[in-house]
Amino acid sequence: MLVLDGKVVSKEVRESLVPRIQAFKEKSGRAPHLTVVIVGEDKASHVYVRNKKTACEALGMTSTIHALPASATQDELNEVLQRLNVDNHVDAILVQFPLPSHLSSDEVLKLVSPAKDADGLTYNSLGYFFAGRPFVSPCTPAGIMTILKHYKINVEGMRTVVVGRSNIVGKPMAHMLMEANATVTLCHSKTKNLSEYTRQADLVVVAAGRPHLLGKEDFKQGAIVIDVGMHGSGQGGKLMGDVRFEELKGWAQAASPVPGGVGPMTITTLLQNTCLLAEKRLGK
Ligand code: NAD
Repeated sequence: MLVLDGKVVSKEVRESLVPRIQAFKEKSGRAPHLTVVIVGEDKASHVYVRNKKTACEALGMTSTIHALPASATQDELNEVLQRLNVDNHVDAILVQFPLPSHLSSDEVLKLVSPAKDADGLTYNSLGYFFAGRPFVSPCTPAGIMTILKHYKINVEGMRTVVVGRSNIVGKPMAHMLMEANATVTLCHSKTKNLSEYTRQADLVVVAAGRPHLLGKEDFKQGAIVIDVGMHGSGQGGKLMGDVRFEELKGWAQAASPVPGGVGPMTITTLLQNTCLLAEKRLGK
C-alpha cells in the first residue's frame, strides 16, 4: 500500500513557494503578508496562531498577530477586519476560530474580503469557489488535491465518495473532485448504509469527525483512502483519524495516515494561499 505522506508533499510545496516569494519581493519591495486575528486567551489557539506566523517567516513571508482581549465587542472586531480589508500592506487575513461565545463567526464570514481571505471560507469566497472562479480554495480540500497530484493520482472518471458535508471540508472537497472530473457521491450523518457507498468507490475522502469510523471492510480492494479526521491532543494522547489505517495495509492501493497525512497540508496550503493572494493583488 502506498502511504500518502503529507509531510513529504508539504515540504515540496513549501520549497516551491520560496522563489515565488523572492520574485514578489523584487517586484513589490516587500514580502507577502498574512495577518492573523485572534480574540481571547485560549492557549491552544495562541499556539496555532504562533505556528502560522513562524511558518510564514520560515519561507520569507511576514505575518502579524492581531490579538484582541476576550472582552472585545463585535463592533471592535468588525472594525479591525474592515481596516485590514483596505490596508495595502495586508495580503491575507485569517481569523482564528473558535471565537469567544459572545462573538459571531457569521459576522466574520460576511466581512473579510474574498481577495484577502487566506483560508477561502468566507461566504463571498465560497460563492466564487462554487461558481468555479476561486480567489483561493479552502485549505484542507485543496491540500488533499495537492497530495493526489503529487502522487499522480488522476481522479478523472473515478467513482469517489466524500464522507461529511461541512463547509470547511466535505462540501468543498466534493466540489474539487467534481471539478477534476470525478463522479462524486456525498455521504453524511443521515446516509443509510454508508459502507454500501464507500465499498463501491475508487477513492474515499473521510471527514466525518468520528474516530476510527471506517476500516478494511468498508472499502473495496485497491481503493484510495484519504483520512481527514483528527482526534486527540497529539500531546501524549495519540492522534487518531476517522479510518483504521493499519487494517488497510495489503488491501488499499493508497491511504493517508493520521498523523502525517492531510494535517501537514492544511497549514502549507494556507501559506500557498497567502502567496497567491499577494501575487493576485500585485498583478492588479
Ligand atoms: P464537522 O463535524 O463539521 O462535520 C462532520 C460531517 O460528517 C458532518 O457533515 C456529518 O454529517 C458527517 N458525519 C458525522 N458522523 C457521520 C457518520 N457516522 N457517517 C457519515 N457521516 C457522518 O467536521 P469537519 O470540520 O468537517 O471535520 C471533520 C474531521 O476532520 C474532524 O475530525 C476534524 O478534526 C478533521 N479536520 C482535520 C483537518 C486537518 O487539517 N487534518 C482540517 C479540518 C478538519
